[in-house]
Amino acid sequence: MRVDEYFLENEPDNECLRIDGYDDAIIGAGNQYTKENVLVYCYNRIIKICMESYDLEELEAIEYVDFNIVGAWIGEGTPIILHYCTCQECEKDGIVDR
Ligand SMILES: [Zn+2]
Repeated sequence: MRVDEYFLENEPDNECLRIDGYDDAIIGAGNQYTKENVLVYCYNRIIKICMESYDLEELEAIEYVDFNIVGAWIGEGTPIILHYCTCQECEKDGIVDR
């Protein structure tokens, strides 16, 4: 079971929002202080999915993602984008600092 499915099964009333087309970039859920949990996405994986989905070069994908995803506030359920990520894919890619 994917982590987002497990999380939403445990919190069926949670109204967190998703980023359409980027489910494979979900690496968990998290919250601040008393706020509700929201989905956490790996920035590196988002970039890779964006490159594949839209046939973009890396810098084009970064520009697209920074403007349209990282720069978008869509309410209290807005996902967290993890930049200093140590997921297996980031470690495999040698990327932990973007
Ligand atoms: Zn990652």
